[in-house]
Amino acid sequence: MNDGSSLARKILGAIKIAVGEAPAALHEPYFIGNEWLYLKECLDSSFVSSVGKFVDLFESDLEKFTGAKYAVAVVNGTAALHIALKVAGVKAGDEVLVPALTFVATANAVSYCNAIQHFVDSESITLGIDAYKLRDYLNSHTEQKSKCCINKTSGRVVRAIVPMHVFGHPVDMDGLMRISHDFNIALVEDAAESLGSYYYGKHTGTLGLMGTLSFNGNKTITTGGGGAILTNDYELAKFAKHLTTTAKVPHAWEYRHDEIGYNYRLPNLNAALGCAQLEQIDKILIAKRDLFYRYQRAFSGLEGLQILSEPKGCKSNFWLQTLRIDPDKVGYQNEILEITNEAGFMTRPAWALMSELNQFKGCPRMDLSTARLLSSQLINIPSSPILATR
Ligand SMILES: *Cc1c(COP(=O)(O)O)cnc(C)c1O
Repeated sequence: MNDGSSLARKILGAIKIAVGEAPAALHEPYFIGNEWLYLKECLDSSFVSSVGKFVDLFESDLEKFTGAKYAVAVVNGTAALHIALKVAGVKAGDEVLVPALTFVATANAVSYCNAIQHFVDSESITLGIDAYKLRDYLNSHTEQKSKCCINKTSGRVVRAIVPMHVFGHPVDMDGLMRISHDFNIALVEDAAESLGSYYYGKHTGTLGLMGTLSFNGNKTITTGGGGAILTNDYELAKFAKHLTTTAKVPHAWEYRHDEIGYNYRLPNLNAALGCAQLEQIDKILIAKRDLFYRYQRAFSGLEGLQILSEPKGCKSNFWLQTLRIDPDKVGYQNEILEITNEAGFMTRPAWALMSELNQFKGCPRMDLSTARLLSSQLINIPSSPILATR
């Protein structure tokens, strides 16, 4: 046996110690509450689409849970990002700072605004944007003109920054909020992966100007497909609601729309599922944390890798449990993925860097060496809450 397959077998063994011998998916939904009841209520009442009580209820439940003053429910997390960027003032031809190490939705939303992705590096504790490195970069590559941050090379306005809380671990928000303030760049948090994660006591997605959530089937809670925009600003929330509901001017019977809007509203059926799921979130979070402790024990003493834990001052939701293999062992990443998947334990690498995708090849970027290394080191392992119960 070579070193790679020997490490892969040890990892497989540790996963089995933590979650048992039966095959395990990466992340499955967990329905243990009123899901059937609320869905039946929608069907019985015939309110399955864009009107019905569950949308308002889901929004107010989200406000209560996250502490955001306003939540606007939408069809998915990508649509939430699109509208949050528009509401934050991103216009055609602007640049938006986006981590190279993220899911493609973060970058796509920038293109939907006809803006340009400007890729930034990550750091290896939180896996999120490296605020120290970014500050140096902005100091030397941008200048301030009438309260706007201008990229000295392209001449374009750097309008917004979209940090992402990777796998549920909160990014260095303090450093990023100071950058947002000092450089006049709007901060929009992609909190799609971090429902139930807190940065020094504040829920992720509520610290910036706006934040976005996703309730896709593989996320911490699911509405089938769905998302939400969070903000503490009444005007921004009102504008977000307007844009996501076809920009219709409120009126009892008239159809009048005062700009190009979007049909992004969350159907009542999906919101009903969301209400039931949110009632169970404390149990889900406890199960996911328990799973982390199981993995931590199972992997302790195994050389050549670490299991990712929550950053200082933060509470992570542990959405996806993550191994980081040592830099001298990144050559084994594929073998580890092969052996674990073949044995029925679903594991996945982190995303290919956005800066390497064909559609984003021409976009501006800073040095991305840490993101590149991380992308070759990270492996997600089975993370469903149900695994903590077997
Ligand atoms: C899941 C996810 C989204 C949104 O995805 P949808 O499927 O559109 O809800 C956005 N950003 C990140 C980082 C995600 O993981």
